[in-house]
Amino acid sequence: MNIYITLDYELFFGNSGTPEKCIIEPTNKLMDIADKHNFKCVFFVDSGYLIKLKEYKLKYPKLEQDYILVSNQIKELSANGHDIQLHVHPHWEDTTYNENGWNFDLTRYRLDAFSENEIEDIFYRYKNVLEEITNKKINTYRAGGWCIQPFEKLKKAFLKCDLKIDSTVFYKGKNTTKTQWYDFEKAKDLDSWMFSNDPCMEDKAGPFLEIPIASTKVFPSFFWKFVFIKKSGSKKHKPYGDGHASPTSNTQIRRLLTKSSYSVVSMDGFKASLLNKAYKTYSKSGKNNFVIIGHPKAFTDYSLNKLDEFMSYKLKNKDSIKVFSEIL
Ligand SMILES: [Zn+2]
Repeated sequence: MNIYITLDYELFFGNSGTPEKCIIEPTNKLMDIADKHNFKCVFFVDSGYLIKLKEYKLKYPKLEQDYILVSNQIKELSANGHDIQLHVHPHWEDTTYNENGWNFDLTRYRLDAFSENEIEDIFYRYKNVLEEITNKKINTYRAGGWCIQPFEKLKKAFLKCDLKIDSTVFYKGKNTTKTQWYDFEKAKDLDSWMFSNDPCMEDKAGPFLEIPIASTKVFPSFFWKFVFIKKSGSKKHKPYGDGHASPTSNTQIRRLLTKSSYSVVSMDGFKASLLNKAYKTYSKSGKNNFVIIGHPKAFTDYSLNKLDEFMSYKLKNKDSIKVFSEIL
């Protein structure tokens, strides 16, 4: 099986936290594991952040330092053979900075709030800022907050930016809250497919390749344990990131705690406990791609330990760890 270790490389969007704690340090800890087992990762960089750092760094020396810190890490990751790919959170367009930090306005969290031309412009700028840092071409996209729909509005931007692969969809994924809306219920339980106008619908003649994030069925008992661990304040479960997300809607929380649902296969926090079981299910079903997602800000001692265990075991199998720039 091909395993992809993919990271959404970003701050928090409630209280942002610092780049040191949310991005740099946890990524370095992941690199210790990657170097130990000799595998490469894919970083989906939230490059709207870099654009804003560039905009504000003349006025705020702290942001000049942050820009150097983050862009140097991206450059180094790329030079060491890790993939740098595109992650778009368009609410950076409406984000401002002052002495108290970043002020996020999530009104336009989804790209759907922008016109087709604005989307094209956002993609172009967000992609270029990364390619200028790495001097390498980007070919893969992951939507911020999984909000890739309606894709028809993104298609021109994909073509203009020469994006060939998407890795956003996950089987049975659904969140229908107002800010973060996505619905992947139409997507089939496959490990990849071609598409043209809708990443959930196969079109063999389509120009784009979907390699979905691996998905796993989760029962309410898992989320109750999750709540318990959060309340217990145990050190090994404490996230490295020093910010926090915008609050999850009560509707979504109620749904997770009462009905079984599908989750991305993740190396974040307590979710890393599901890695092995999900891998076995994928392996048995004969799938060829197993895409794991993670967020450095959400890593914990526990989750990186689980990943380390998982990788030691995987690399003894015939699995290969891949990055998207090798495809096509
Ligand atoms: Zn994101």
